[in-house]
Amino acid sequence: MTASTRPTVWFLTGSQGLYGEETLAQVADQSHRIQDLLGAVPGAPAELLGKPVLTDSAAITATVLAANADPSCVGLIAWMHTFSPAKMWIAGLDLLRKPLLHLHTQSDVELPWSTIDMDFMNLNQAAHGDREFGYVQSRLRVARKTVAGHASNPEVVARIHSWMRAAVGRDALRTLRLARFGDNMRDVAVTEGDKVEAQLRFGVSVNTYGVNDLVEAVTAADEAAVGELVEEYADTYRLVPELAAGGERHASLRYAARIELGLRTFLTEGGFNAFTTNFEDLGGLRQLPGLAVQRLMADGYGFGGEGDWKTSALLHTLKAMGRGLPGGTSFMEDYTYHLTPGSELILGAHMLEVCPSIAGHRPSCEIHPLGIGGREDPVRLVFDARPGPAVVVGLADMGDRFRLVANQIEVVKPVEPLPRLPVARAVWRPAPDLRTSTEAWLTAGGPHHTVLSSAVGSEELIDLAEMLRTELLLIDASTTVREFTKEIRWNQAYYRLAVGL
Ligand code: MN
Repeated sequence: MTASTRPTVWFLTGSQGLYGEETLAQVADQSHRIQDLLGAVPGAPAELLGKPVLTDSAAITATVLAANADPSCVGLIAWMHTFSPAKMWIAGLDLLRKPLLHLHTQSDVELPWSTIDMDFMNLNQAAHGDREFGYVQSRLRVARKTVAGHASNPEVVARIHSWMRAAVGRDALRTLRLARFGDNMRDVAVTEGDKVEAQLRFGVSVNTYGVNDLVEAVTAADEAAVGELVEEYADTYRLVPELAAGGERHASLRYAARIELGLRTFLTEGGFNAFTTNFEDLGGLRQLPGLAVQRLMADGYGFGGEGDWKTSALLHTLKAMGRGLPGGTSFMEDYTYHLTPGSELILGAHMLEVCPSIAGHRPSCEIHPLGIGGREDPVRLVFDARPGPAVVVGLADMGDRFRLVANQIEVVKPVEPLPRLPVARAVWRPAPDLRTSTEAWLTAGGPHHTVLSSAVGSEELIDLAEMLRTELLLIDASTTVREFTKEIRWNQAYYRLAVGL
């Protein structure tokens, strides 16, 4: 599941006609140098596309409209190398529908102290040109990220890349089609939400399909393709002997492969990049989909258990943001605690559906009974998550708005092996500590289903929330419950009163 076209970010350089041709040619040349510096750093999730220097309102408006209309354009970077009187920008910024990053930089790092003259001063005036631009953006309440520093500074480029990743994620979310097989788990509150508001705010379209539509695709799966997929499982995972060819439960593995093929067909044919299942509504499915869900997540599909479409949409978004990065991203659920004072940990897992992109070793493919769902024993991948820094993030519908809650965490090796736990799991230490983390999370009303990512971090999440104009409550090393509670109260007022910044 790869993007059909490489996403682009347009680089806009603001100026004005007053300077004359010669100076504007220098502006264009130096803008290219800045773009080359940004482009020279590997790892950009989008291609930087320089646009001609903008000197009047008509050109600015035309460029913004073209950016709005170009499906490959995920965002704009703007830099005012010279002074660009900002009333020229009002019409364009008012029409802008793509994320914006204001780059506050300068052509050269050092001032040429001994040779500096008024020509140099007139050319290198971002110090006030960007202030004029900052003013008009704030005046128009334009949401954006502001990044200051020279383009040769790796930290500057890294922050731009984070924003680009968020822009790629936002773009994936805007066009996302999500299929729900069945409704939400009965009586559960936090997995509910306003799908109309979600479509307006995020773009994602969420629709329900009868699970037996999926069963039809599962039944129709080609027997030869099932055989090939089962071989792929045997090559990729440590298959327990009972599931291997000739093993007494090999038929269950073949049925799991059949579910995967059916799911892939259904999702591909419908143009879906995310889905949900619900163990209460399995129709004619003989197993709760486990292995299939795990493998589809590894390919970038969003997933939520128990009909949780919000987490599914968020998972696909973070998968798109993390594409090409080391680390992985998975559906997750806070499950149980290790409460030894001073070394408290959270054990996260799900009934079956944890993505192998976060695995710390080759997963084992196993079959075990599942008390829930009342079907045949489901096949699943079992592993421990790879230790290292990560983030968990959840999306809740607060009635009047959506709220993202995130926590910086450190995934650790389990204190002891877990030989009797038949599901994939992650063990982590939440920042700043378990008590503060959980008190803050519960105070925020954060959900029990989350997305765990070791590929993207808090900066990307902050940028994404800004682009989506959605509240983000971040629990990190500096969090105290007292301040966090105040932030929630202030946000309550802010989100009812504010538009934009
Ligand atoms: Mn669950």
